[in-house]
Amino acid sequence: MPAYTALFIVFMTVSTLTGIFLLIRLWRARQEAGAASLIWAILCMAFWSLTYIFEIISPNVGWKIFWLKTEYLAIPFISLAIFLFGVVFSGRRKWLSGSRLAWLLVIPTVTFLLAATNEYHQLIWSQIVPPVNSAFGPLLVGHGPWFFVFTGYSYLLLLVTALFFIQIFVRRQGIYRVQAGIILAGIAMPWLGNVFYLFVKSPLPGYDWTPLAFALTMIALEIGFTRYRLVDVLPIAQSVIFDAMLDAAIVVNKTGQIVDANLACERVFDLQVADLIGKDVSLLFPEWQAWIQDTHPRVETIREFSLPGDPEQRIFNLKLVAIAGRGKSISGYLLILSDVTRNVKALSQMRLLVAALEATQNAVVITDSSGMVQWVNPAFTLLTGYERSEIIGRTPRLLKSGHQSAGFYKKLWDTILKGEVWRGELINRRKDGSEYSEEMTITPLVQPDGTITNFIALKQDITERKQTEEQLKLAHKQAVEANRLKTQLLASVSHDLRTPLGTIMGYAEMLLVEAFGPQNEAQKTATAEILNSANSLLTFVNNLIGQAQIETGKIMLNNQPFEPSVLVDSIRSVVNYHAAKKNLNLKIEIDPQLPQVLIGDSYWLRQILLNLVNNAIKFTQTGSVHIRFYKSNDTTWALQVSDTGIGIPEKDRENIFDAFYQHSDVSEKKYGGSGLGLSIVKQLTILMGGKIELESQVGQGSTFTVLLPLVVAPEEAG
Ligand code: ADP
Repeated sequence: MPAYTALFIVFMTVSTLTGIFLLIRLWRARQEAGAASLIWAILCMAFWSLTYIFEIISPNVGWKIFWLKTEYLAIPFISLAIFLFGVVFSGRRKWLSGSRLAWLLVIPTVTFLLAATNEYHQLIWSQIVPPVNSAFGPLLVGHGPWFFVFTGYSYLLLLVTALFFIQIFVRRQGIYRVQAGIILAGIAMPWLGNVFYLFVKSPLPGYDWTPLAFALTMIALEIGFTRYRLVDVLPIAQSVIFDAMLDAAIVVNKTGQIVDANLACERVFDLQVADLIGKDVSLLFPEWQAWIQDTHPRVETIREFSLPGDPEQRIFNLKLVAIAGRGKSISGYLLILSDVTRNVKALSQMRLLVAALEATQNAVVITDSSGMVQWVNPAFTLLTGYERSEIIGRTPRLLKSGHQSAGFYKKLWDTILKGEVWRGELINRRKDGSEYSEEMTITPLVQPDGTITNFIALKQDITERKQTEEQLKLAHKQAVEANRLKTQLLASVSHDLRTPLGTIMGYAEMLLVEAFGPQNEAQKTATAEILNSANSLLTFVNNLIGQAQIETGKIMLNNQPFEPSVLVDSIRSVVNYHAAKKNLNLKIEIDPQLPQVLIGDSYWLRQILLNLVNNAIKFTQTGSVHIRFYKSNDTTWALQVSDTGIGIPEKDRENIFDAFYQHSDVSEKKYGGSGLGLSIVKQLTILMGGKIELESQVGQGSTFTVLLPLVVAPEEAG
């Protein structure tokens, strides 16, 4: 075997082994985008190198032709595989549809088929001659027309692939540029080999160095692919990221035309991306010209933006970046629109809440979970005298007055650390040392995971309220005391009044019955007047005593058998006197149904009767006063006093039973009286287990009916 043949075989072996080595290395990354095409390209290259070796070393022409044809299982597909790698690697994966791939496969497949059947048409090889000088070596071939079609196709694909990487090389910086450069150099290899083959007279005619050139290509591609693999993902993923972005992104060229827009734009502008591309950007942003007036390359400007007439009234953060071109020029613009409506709304809501907290009259303190103050409102300063800056970062312990025990604070902390609201009153100390009472509510801010991040305390100054409360308590106490004193006074005064009154009445009565000798008419009248006035006074004094006793709860009913007729008789003389004086017709009626003896407190019953009858006579000018005792039903008896007097207006009926009340039409001056009578009557009635009823018509008269439980004396009942 000639030495140069051996040398060539060595080169081809190196090329084959390189292929195998590259395949092993690439195997791990086989899943990555572009790896499949690269593997295919390397396989083809290695296969070609290997089969080429077989062609060279085959001793007879038949085998050599067999191997030549076998090489065409790989040769036609190498450029296509490299092209596909370029397509994917430069981010054009989407372009590669199934039908496009099928079209691309047509020429390589036809080439293979034609190579296999060359003897019938010589379209690939016009002639095939065995090597001269030695049995070893490649066949010497002349090319048929299809060979040139296929070669043109291959170089065209390589050219387009080179353009992909030239684009990356020009556009990108740094590592991408190096990577694209290496790959470009790799792609240039077959071209160089070709130039070499065409223009330089080869010392070895018939030997095709292209597999070797491709081996170098593969090394370059592999380095480009693996060495920079991590960053390689970026160019491929770029378009994916672009479309996956939540923010709308628009690329605008120098002249203001939209050259690219991502999917998010469809949502923002309610337009298809296809409709956006090519549009004048000022259609979307009328102020575009003003915006780009002083943009500088790579400088971002951010502004708030709303779409005119947007029904959703969204607010966007618009970021405008000028894309640097050559030198200081601008080659285009990138616009990014982020929908910040929710943020803006949340922010304004927050501002509102803060304003509300700032304005509120209650002091607000926000602490972290350890109790360190983070924020206070102006009302806090007003309440405590501490400025915001003086308390932030410290604890509210600053306000402690020492009035609350350690246990008090422990309870407080126990409550809020449990996540519960604490409410209470405490005395705190202001910055100036003065003390104040406050009502405080502490609400823990519990996060969804159960942790407490903050405490919010609301404080209200209740010093004034406390003082008022104290004053009220005191006033009440004083009032109770005063009332007690009054009652006591009343009781003793009444008692002291009653004794001499008894004496006056006793002597007057004795005078009236002429116990001290005969009296003339004038003397009799005077005595009667004395007696009558004394009687009125006694009734009043008795009322006072009754009232005092009822108020102090000292009244005791002394229930004894009594005869209603005797009761009536006891007041008859007084009443008669008055009635006669006013010329009133006095009727006294005792129901025969009523038992002769009843059980009751005849003393207080007399007082009731006296009050009612006195009123009846007092408020009646003409007509009659009617006293009636009757059995109302089996369990009730009644004591009724009716008159034909002035009557009681509807509106006064509720109040006339209150102590010291006199109805509006009745002036004290005209009728006299204290307003105590009916109050005593009612209270006594209730004490006796009965009730009082009133019927009245203004100008017609009134009827008071005291209904009492019917208790019959034992002998009577028996
Ligand atoms: P006083 O008679 O001492 O004023 P009372 O408590 O007995 O006090 O009566 C309260 C008021 O009720 C009287 O001032 C009067 O206005 C009204 N009143 C009581 N009895 C009658 C009555 N028979 N007819 C009309 N008004 C009456």
